[in-house]
Amino acid sequence: MASADWGYDGKNGPDQWSKQFPIANGNNQSPIDIKTSEVKHDTSLKPISVTYNPATAKEIVNVGHSFHVVFDDSGNQSVLKGGPLSDSYLLTQFHFHWGNSNDHGSEHTVDGVKYSGELHIVHWNSAKYSSATDAVSKPDGMAIIGVFLKVGPANPNLQKVLDALNSIKTKGKRAPFTNFDPSCLLPSSRDYWTYFGSLTHPPLHESVTWFILKESITVSPEQLAQLRTILSSAEGETAVPVLSNHRPIQPLKGRTVTASF
Ligand SMILES: [Zn+2]
Repeated sequence: MASADWGYDGKNGPDQWSKQFPIANGNNQSPIDIKTSEVKHDTSLKPISVTYNPATAKEIVNVGHSFHVVFDDSGNQSVLKGGPLSDSYLLTQFHFHWGNSNDHGSEHTVDGVKYSGELHIVHWNSAKYSSATDAVSKPDGMAIIGVFLKVGPANPNLQKVLDALNSIKTKGKRAPFTNFDPSCLLPSSRDYWTYFGSLTHPPLHESVTWFILKESITVSPEQLAQLRTILSSAEGETAVPVLSNHRPIQPLKGRTVTASF
């Protein structure tokens, strides 16, 4: 398996990743199941503070196993602070994880309960590092906000993203995506669980301070179906839709999950 060949089905799926990426069996892997009876409330945790400038939205890219909405992080314009973080982190991209049916698809779970999908808003430590590429392998390099997607009424704030998928159906395609503030995708409550973990796909670096929001956002069955229409195949190849792109939960290995609430 070449490093570019990992995926989510049998022969190159999550249980094969450790062959190419031994850290897959590391002590700080993500996602995890959040066992609410074992979570510790931490009164020292600060609220999440996000200040996103919609003008930093740049483009939408089909990366094969998913799609990214990418932001211009060359200025200090879209910033995450707070929680257990001692530095400011800059927004670089957001993406989603989903499953081949609506009864699963999230990466994190809560007391074993799976949601239909999960949004990841990805930031890097701009106080210490020069770029996301530089930060991604450092223990204090990344901070990701995770938001659960639950089936319900259509989410109007998501529709601009979903409508853009038509222009990036195949792997490697990109299109301009501008004037978007991803805080419109956050639930009204910013209560969160936090723990130290990893990227949930190769290279699986243990570099992520996770913020998993307690409150979910809704998405309609039709919107979930739209996510599954992007292709992992390149233009001219046999069409292979991305029906599922979530990693199973990983062992906690003694880590503590704390809660802001
Ligand atoms: Zn993700």
